[in-house]
Amino acid sequence: MDEELEFFNEIAQKLLISEQKNPVVKPVPTHQVIDELDINFKDQGIEDDEWKELIEKMINFTPKTASKLFFNQLFGGRQPKAVFGDLLAVMLNNSMYTYKVAGPQAGIEKTIMKKVVQLAGYPDLADGTIAPGGSMCNFMALVMARDSVVKDTPNAGVNSKMTMYTSKESHYSIPKNAAFAGIGRDQVRFIKTNKKGEMDTNHLNDTILEDKNQGYTPFFVNATAGTTVLGAFDDIEAIHHVCKKHNLWLHIDGAYCGGVIFSKKYKSLVNGIELSDSFSFNAHKMLGTPLNCSIIIAKDKSYLSKSFSNDAEYLYQTNTDDFDLGKTSLQCGRRNDALKFWTLWKSIGNNGLEKLVNQQFYLADIAREYIKNHPDYTLYSFENSISICFNYKDIPANEICTLLYEEAQAMVGYGKFESTEFVRLITINANNSETDILHFFKVFEEGAKKLKLKHSISVNTA
Ligand SMILES: *Cc1c(COP(=O)(O)O)cnc(C)c1O
Repeated sequence: MDEELEFFNEIAQKLLISEQKNPVVKPVPTHQVIDELDINFKDQGIEDDEWKELIEKMINFTPKTASKLFFNQLFGGRQPKAVFGDLLAVMLNNSMYTYKVAGPQAGIEKTIMKKVVQLAGYPDLADGTIAPGGSMCNFMALVMARDSVVKDTPNAGVNSKMTMYTSKESHYSIPKNAAFAGIGRDQVRFIKTNKKGEMDTNHLNDTILEDKNQGYTPFFVNATAGTTVLGAFDDIEAIHHVCKKHNLWLHIDGAYCGGVIFSKKYKSLVNGIELSDSFSFNAHKMLGTPLNCSIIIAKDKSYLSKSFSNDAEYLYQTNTDDFDLGKTSLQCGRRNDALKFWTLWKSIGNNGLEKLVNQQFYLADIAREYIKNHPDYTLYSFENSISICFNYKDIPANEICTLLYEEAQAMVGYGKFESTEFVRLITINANNSETDILHFFKVFEEGAKKLKLKHSISVNTA
């Protein structure tokens, strides 16, 4: 192991340096990558030197998601203390199902849950778990809702047409999970939004009534805290009002921006969170831990065990129920995703986590200000969102984003709201500063110039 650790240190150092020097990697086309990087296997292994060389080469061609010019997805940057925790988790290699195998690691996860439960304003009866991603947190919420409304479902299966509700701006995992859970995609109702991308609660109520009249069984509403494109926050209090009237489970998908619970300044964006039945967020998004760290809490912990516990004598051989975390988790063997969040949180404290969140909104304000002050830009996003959606001159968003990617200038994506496509800049990397955001715009505008030039050349030669 010594040699591998030494090599790891060496290449990690090199990566940090190259991230500074070349923050964006020139992409290798998909049809070349396997041959070019000699990825395929052979009967014979290779010498260590060759193996090391290969690994360095592979790293050099891997997109750099922690660099200052990565704005492509809803994660980015690197929190050193969290990275350390994740590396340690791999070395320790515990599985989180029982106290016998996880020891203090189970206590760490429990403590995180307890604190998150408090931040959400849930009662002591609440508890939570860590799932492999925000999509799977949404799945767990859906299954708990299903089993709470029609109690025999875990044994008998789904026997009626159960309908569920989510805004048309919500994450695609919602219909996907409907398929997984036996509800069926056809029973998902996509509720309209207002122009800010927030769920229209009148339309929600009308749709539920209509379904009831048709003999369906409405059971679940998904509200989003930070929609994938615009970063909008659904009005939880108003949605709860509708849920209460019709007795539906209310889940809050806070995968993207549920992390605002850590900020006194921005917590009001999820006002009413304590009224929900379940809530999830990705610490690997706003809190900056490495992928994945996805937490779901349920207001009443008995729903977690009702839907996710199964007797397994070979596994649960000591009487440590409360710390046998396998009884409320989706998986059996489960990697330790709690430790990285804990090493970070313990180190920087509640205040440190708050600062991470606030910095992202600050950077978003910087970006919005810049756009507002430059008449060549059109802004599509609203206050209190860390998704900055814009267009520049008459340049198609997908073309400029592709050019920046192919020419290794910056990683930024595009999105669509209603019929408008735009560039979507995500200011989630809390390590970035005002300078980094302004630098992005410079890189972007240079890219736009290049694109114009390309167009005029192709027009002239046509
Ligand atoms: C990212 C995201 C998800 C999915 O989370 P994964 O961890 O990628 O599975 C779900 N909902 C929203 C709103 C998201 O932004």
